[in-house]
Amino acid sequence: MTEVKVCLHCGNKTQMELINSHEHEEGEFEYDDEQGPYQIGAYFEKYNFYKCPVCNRFTLELEESNTFYIESNGAMPVTTKILYPAIETSLSKLPSGVKAAYQAAQKVRNIDGAICAIAIRRTLEKMCKDQGVTGRDLYTKLKQLSEKGIIPPILDEMSFLIKDIGNQAAHADEGEFDEHLINSLLKFTSIILEYVYALPSEIKKIQRYMSTLTEEKEEKVIGENRKDGE
Ligand SMILES: [Zn+2]
Repeated sequence: MTEVKVCLHCGNKTQMELINSHEHEEGEFEYDDEQGPYQIGAYFEKYNFYKCPVCNRFTLELEESNTFYIESNGAMPVTTKILYPAIETSLSKLPSGVKAAYQAAQKVRNIDGAICAIAIRRTLEKMCKDQGVTGRDLYTKLKQLSEKGIIPPILDEMSFLIKDIGNQAAHADEGEFDEHLINSLLKFTSIILEYVYALPSEIKKIQRYMSTLTEEKEEKVIGENRKDGE
């Protein structure tokens, strides 16, 4: 059996050979004192293992569905994700322009290193614009972000790495952007994005949680004091 899919190794949209499939079902149960446990729904997983006829490499896909999410016409929607080759999950907090550029970089990472490097550069340029810095090049802009305290100095030290990346990528000979360099650049980019977009809201979440703890503690102390006074 074959299915038309995009191979994330070579980038070809092609008839991929389905080599194997495995289905797995997990029930969700609740407990009733009289009846005992009873099933209230189920989660379904299906793993599909494909081989690309162009590059001969493999893809592992996961299809997920569950009985808790059924459309009004009775259909059970299936979400599909590629587990291998690995594509880093996008950060949900990214502004749409930054997100699109970052996703483009992720998509081509196993396909074309130079194009991936250009997409990484675009991602960082868009982030700088979103953060309101306007230097003459990416290096200057990242320096400004560091001066404004939006990224820590250690990340700005790293930015010399990507200083000329766009030019290098545009004029690179094949093979110059090897997997190792691309992986390092993507890691660097994901750390910066996480620092700028995800970390502030994570810290706020922790602060909110800590303040509810303090409030609860204060309420308890007040309650105990009242008891003492009685
Ligand atoms: Zn392929």
